[in-house]
Amino acid sequence: STSARQSLKIGLIPADGIGKEVIPAAKAAIIAVGSDIPKPEFIDLVAGWECFTRTGVALPEETVEILKNECDCALFGSVSSPSRKVVGYSSPIVALRKKLDLYANIRPVTSVAAQSGQKPAVDLVVVRENTECLYVKEETLTVGENGKEARATRLITERASRRIGQMAFELAKSRPRKHLTIIHKSNVLSVTDGLFRETVRAVPSLPGVDGKYSDVTIAEQLVDSAVYRLFREPEIFDVMVAPNLYGDIISDAAAALVGSLGLIPSVNAGDNFVMGEPVHGSAPDIEGKGIANPLASIRSAALMLRRLDYTKAADRIDNAVDQVIREGRYLTPDLKGKSTTSEVLEAVLSKI
Ligand code: ATP
Ligand code: MG
Repeated sequence: STSARQSLKIGLIPADGIGKEVIPAAKAAIIAVGSDIPKPEFIDLVAGWECFTRTGVALPEETVEILKNECDCALFGSVSSPSRKVVGYSSPIVALRKKLDLYANIRPVTSVAAQSGQKPAVDLVVVRENTECLYVKEETLTVGENGKEARATRLITERASRRIGQMAFELAKSRPRKHLTIIHKSNVLSVTDGLFRETVRAVPSLPGVDGKYSDVTIAEQLVDSAVYRLFREPEIFDVMVAPNLYGDIISDAAAALVGSLGLIPSVNAGDNFVMGEPVHGSAPDIEGKGIANPLASIRSAALMLRRLDYTKAADRIDNAVDQVIREGRYLTPDLKGKSTTSEVLEAVLSKI
């Protein structure tokens, strides 16, 4: 439990590209709120494309073992992907999610209000199931009377739907509006999406829940109309829970509502581990220039701390980031500013 920790062991996996420039900024923000968390201890770990080209493995066994056995949580940067398929290489982030059973991807999308204390126009969280749906990657290619025929399996299980549902209800309950929207397409896919919808809906009546979620209001949206409404009236959403594929699309679409990719954090979460990760990729076009926006990574650190119940530390980081964005004096070029990564970091640290 949180209170029992003597120190907070944090694995750092900057990996490739601008990951190496922004993860150190997240580390600095955590050190700056050190008085509100157990003494942070950082463990540097390797993974990614560069690691693969050097050693032949994208995710060394040692990295996984240290994360599992020694770390309380982790921060992941970003991986470069080769432009064509390379034999033996597969994304270490996908493997890590599997090996650490990080079954949820949680992505808050929040705009910053013009003035402190005002309600932001967009303030929602996408909770995406991260282990099944079409991404089980069971595809076949056969030849039939129509020529080539490609098929993919879409797996939805009760267990995975229930645990993502529980996580979504728990998150909704912790937020001021306490509103949960279930995203599905069960008018067409009545068996698969039907199971997802029914299972998530049944979470409040599971044995042992005992009215815990009675203050959470529940809505549903078909995925197509959810995207439409997301763009027309994002303020209707609070927590959105979705199967893997819809969640993937919705979370990127939602990201477009608040501007730069360089602002959006996420965590990969399971029952026993949490790993923060900025939503953006390795951004090869700006790599090494010192102008990568560190705010997505700094916010990912806050989100990670929040999931570990270090609310005060998380609030201090988030408030500092909001102030820096609101003031607009120190911003990187993706936000039309002229500052460097380290100048933005310094601004955040001074607010903390
Ligand atoms: P990858 O294959 O690793 O995802 P990508 O080329 O898709 O690489 P992304 O990292 O996804 O690149 O970024 C897309 C665009 O957004 C790029 O132009 C990139 O420079 C910009 N971008 C992404 N993250 C940041 C950031 N933190 N700061 C500034 N610009 C960013
Ligand atoms: Mg990308």
